[in-house]
Amino acid sequence: MTTPEVRPAPPVDVVPLGGLREFGMNTMAITCGETTIVIDAGVMFAEPDLPGVDLVIPDLAYLEGLGHKVAAVFLTHGHEDHIGGLPYLMPHVQGPVYGSRLALALVEHRLEQHAIDVRDRLKPVAPHDRVEVGPFTIECLRVTHSMPDCLALAIHTPQGVLVHTGDFKIDHTPLDGERSDLPRLAELGQQGVLALFADSTNVDRPGVAGSERDVVDGFEEIFTSTAGKIVVAMFASSIHRMQIVVDLAAQFDRHVAFVGRGMIDNSETAQRLGYLRIPHGVQIRDSDVREYPPSDVVCIATGSQGEPAAALSRIAIDDHRVVKVDDDDVVVFSARAIPGNERAIGRVMNHLALRGADVITDSQKHVHVSGHGHVEELKLMHSLVRPKYFVPIHGEYRQLARHARVAQAVSGSTEVMVIDNGDVLRFDAEGAAVVARAEVGRRLIDGTRTGEVADEVLRDRRHLAGDGLIVPMVAINLQTGELAGAPEIVTRGFVVDESSEALLRDATALIRDAIRDAPIEERTDVGLLRERVRAELQRVVRRKAGRRPLIVPVVMEI
Ligand SMILES: [Zn+2]
Ligand SMILES: [Zn+2]
Repeated sequence: MTTPEVRPAPPVDVVPLGGLREFGMNTMAITCGETTIVIDAGVMFAEPDLPGVDLVIPDLAYLEGLGHKVAAVFLTHGHEDHIGGLPYLMPHVQGPVYGSRLALALVEHRLEQHAIDVRDRLKPVAPHDRVEVGPFTIECLRVTHSMPDCLALAIHTPQGVLVHTGDFKIDHTPLDGERSDLPRLAELGQQGVLALFADSTNVDRPGVAGSERDVVDGFEEIFTSTAGKIVVAMFASSIHRMQIVVDLAAQFDRHVAFVGRGMIDNSETAQRLGYLRIPHGVQIRDSDVREYPPSDVVCIATGSQGEPAAALSRIAIDDHRVVKVDDDDVVVFSARAIPGNERAIGRVMNHLALRGADVITDSQKHVHVSGHGHVEELKLMHSLVRPKYFVPIHGEYRQLARHARVAQAVSGSTEVMVIDNGDVLRFDAEGAAVVARAEVGRRLIDGTRTGEVADEVLRDRRHLAGDGLIVPMVAINLQTGELAGAPEIVTRGFVVDESSEALLRDATALIRDAIRDAPIEERTDVGLLRERVRAELQRVVRRKAGRRPLIVPVVMEI
């Protein structure tokens, strides 16, 4: 009898394109033979003070070089650092996009803004669902996080099972009752997991993150002690947090208004899908806020990161269409400060305090709890999954390195691989090893923040080379808000024809007027001023010359 020839299982290549050694733009490609799937397609937010750049996405050159299109995309959940890059990924994708109902609803809106119609390719999945794509079977598992409907993925491959946690914490009392599927994770662990890819965000925090419910007491104190209006700034995706504030509003007879475009959009989507429940008569429109006494109102607003164009920044300098804050009002920052945003946030807080508002952050009251597991929750994940290999993801190098140590402490037999974006991690009969480097990097995107999406343009190197650079320089007295001398404009590579020449001549006056017309608080704030000069100049250059140069304002204070 002859033994049939045993074909070795084809190797599986895992290539993180973003999200390693950085926070944000989580994107990972997994290839076996001619089939590539991508887990998440995230963005990173540019720092508020980085003028003109709104988003950063990973360079997708690696996918172009594969020779075949991506067969399917899986989204672990609806946060921007996992879905925001999808419009830019779609040209590389031929198959469906799988994700939870909520994640897909948020995505649909985003794709619409980019005029990408792939609605028939958005496939909702739920916990326990299994999806077959070529040699892969992708199994969806419930995990808890700071928003509803989040998934971890168990990817069954010819080499073994890869577990990708997505973002998670282990909330035993989630607001929606949907607990993390620890039993299935343990079962997978028992059956044997080849590799675990786990969220490292909070590995350096001790203990456990705590339940979303933990903030209820802190907010309750604010509701009982506030005479005026309550404004709560949070991420527009913090739907559990919205629910907590809505419930307290109903309990304390206040009306809720969502303020800021992202907040209005997301609260509508979440209500439509049943993830956010607002008792009849509680919600009012933002434009109706002034019709009610301040003691009857809670506003849930965008701008927790100090973004100059967001609702809270406008409210803070008394430049918002409808919402004002005064003495007796309380403004709550119910979000963590993303590193790099501290100055911008501090600036907004100062303006709010100047208006007489009581500014409350996590350091005064427990008004924020993280959605990412602390070290004890990560240890629990490791001891349940017991992988052969462990690859820390979602974090800067120090978090990845710390997570590697934690994994080793839990199980000495787990082999830890701290890899980087672009490393081609191959699993084959020999085990796991980094066998090559793929081209990776970052691309800068602008335009989404202003909502002028029809004009949305990539500002990559090609673009910069085509439309050039404009540097308007203004000197201003930060005490009085008076301009010192005329603004100056320096250009590089900005094609000067007749119309653009005239335009540049007028631009000086334009900047002068824009500054003169700005409220005093904006004129005496370098960050806000820079944003105003940039936005004004960009609008005019685009309208009159049809160009999108990179505009980098320089504000000198005297
Ligand atoms: Zn998340
Ligand atoms: Zn994330």
